[in-house]
Amino acid sequence: MLNVNEVEQIISDLIKPIKDIELVSLSSVDNRVLAQDITSDLDFPYWDNSAMDGYAVKYSDVALTSEKNPVILKVIEEIKTGYSPQKKLKMGESARIFTGGMLPQGADTIVIQENTLRQGDNVLITHPPLKGEFVRHKGSFYQAGKCLIPAGSRINAPEVAILATAQCLDIPVVRSPRIAIISTGDELISPQDTLKTGKIIDSNQYLIASFLKQNGAIPLPWGIIPDELDALETEVKKALAEADWIISTGGVSVGEYDYVDKVIEKLGGEIKVKNVRMKPGKPLTIATFGENKLYFGIPGNPVSTMVTCWRFLKSAIAKLSGEINPSSLPIVKGITCNHLRSQGTRETYLWGYTNLVDGYYQFTMAEGSHNSGNLINLQGVNSLAIIPVGVNLIEMGDDVSIFLIK
Ligand code: AMP
Ligand code: MG
Repeated sequence: MLNVNEVEQIISDLIKPIKDIELVSLSSVDNRVLAQDITSDLDFPYWDNSAMDGYAVKYSDVALTSEKNPVILKVIEEIKTGYSPQKKLKMGESARIFTGGMLPQGADTIVIQENTLRQGDNVLITHPPLKGEFVRHKGSFYQAGKCLIPAGSRINAPEVAILATAQCLDIPVVRSPRIAIISTGDELISPQDTLKTGKIIDSNQYLIASFLKQNGAIPLPWGIIPDELDALETEVKKALAEADWIISTGGVSVGEYDYVDKVIEKLGGEIKVKNVRMKPGKPLTIATFGENKLYFGIPGNPVSTMVTCWRFLKSAIAKLSGEINPSSLPIVKGITCNHLRSQGTRETYLWGYTNLVDGYYQFTMAEGSHNSGNLINLQGVNSLAIIPVGVNLIEMGDDVSIFLIK
């Protein structure tokens, strides 16, 4: 059986990032991935301007000023932010200026207001500035034509602000991945249905849809398919035609009614992963259809589904979406506040809450049953403690690897 890290690598190697491009407006570009490098034909700043409220001066006029012997300059104009200076500074002159105001010709330095004394049409410079101090030079942050944001960047608040500043109104982004969600099982009913004896409500459909949306993919809810070979085959075929990937839950273990692998083979898929040395989540089928399409057959137990999504699908979707340098898995070291037990045969994930206490991570296991069928005590968890293969016990107070999921 493959180890978790091996499966992660196999998945990564199988993914072909989406190349399709669509244009979206500045107001709806949040959380999308750039499909092309963004450049601007403007310099930033657009023109020399002041970083402070004060006076624009010629450095040579004020280099030798002091509190005892202050230089006196004539104030020839007031430059309000957003307006062009009307005059050029000559020797012995200054201009009143505010943060962001355009530097007048002839000026090369800003003296901050705190180091001046205004006297009618004149200003006394009480402390010498450094040469060029508090001037933001045209092009000092960015020069026109260079790459401003590279293709493959995910757009969050800072990037949106940069795009706005560069006046990018229609932005080329990677088409969002479309992922079909199939729930398999005769026992399943939808939350809207009346609960009958022996039935189980299909929570995975909602779990995966929510997870996909949070990770920038479009869920295609395919609903519940009974444990029947033909029914599953028909629906998988349809889903393959519409979706980039398929995620199905259930039907991948060893029962007589676990049809997923059979359907994959019947439809010409190639199974690349069969099971992973992990708990919860051992049954796992990953298959390819042609060059681009992947099928993830993940176990039906809701906690297994959730942990499989967190552990494998988050980074996989980032890669499919064309993201460059997606952040590495947030696995940190901390101490555990509980004894953590495992059978030692599989990499074991226990769910709980991690807090920073005096700069150190501390993991506390969620109360209640750590059973892959119990999704109730998953609520609010922010992390998974990882017990490596071969370890049966991590004692309270010992170091543990913690996978942060929020
Ligand atoms: P399976 O992987 O099909 O053997 O299912 C394992 C367990 O997960 C069974 O108890 C199923 O009833 C349950 N299960 C399967 N699919 C779902 C689902 N979509 N939502 C909630 N529980 C499910
Ligand atoms: Mg089943």
